[in-house]
Amino acid sequence: MRVCSFPSCKRLHKARGFCEMHYLRLKSHGDPSVRKRRAPVLLSLSELMARTTMSSDGCWNWNGALNTSGYAWMSYLGRSRIVSRVAWELENGPISVGLCVLHRCDNRKCINPSHLFLGDNLTNQRDMIAKGRGRKAFGSRSGVAKLNEQLVVQMREAYSLGSTPTDIARQHGLPRSTVWHALNKRTWRHV
Ligand SMILES: [Zn+2]
Ligand SMILES: [Zn+2]
Repeated sequence: MRVCSFPSCKRLHKARGFCEMHYLRLKSHGDPSVRKRRAPVLLSLSELMARTTMSSDGCWNWNGALNTSGYAWMSYLGRSRIVSRVAWELENGPISVGLCVLHRCDNRKCINPSHLFLGDNLTNQRDMIAKGRGRKAFGSRSGVAKLNEQLVVQMREAYSLGSTPTDIARQHGLPRSTVWHALNKRTWRHV
């Protein structure tokens, strides 16, 4: 049996001369002896702002990717994040679980902290209705939905950070099955 070519490693060969572990290290770090991820790169608000284009109404329009709901989206510290949430946190500190970052400017691409405010899911829904969204039967626009895109994203974030579906369901007063389906993308696949 062929074994790993890494000095003193006796594991079975997997690919490119290495065992699975050393091959994965090689793949992620370009060096089979590097064990850890690179140190996370923390951003400052001005670095985030540098990735936006300011509009005449003061919106900081994100130049990078948008998610399927149209929110500015980035990979940050190893996770997919809505950039307006990151911007809010850089300006004001961590957001309590259960709260959404909402836009006064109704511009989902905008990450200007002075255009953002915190609200709960209910505020978010009222806000959407007030702004004339909340019509067509799709995702949060369907009359029966108990969730909305931002809440789903937020619940998935909490889930990836170790909250259980039961915790999350209790927190939002939702049936556990609704939460479980959303977390596991049985529903809300477009988010
Ligand atoms: Zn090895
Ligand atoms: Zn704005």
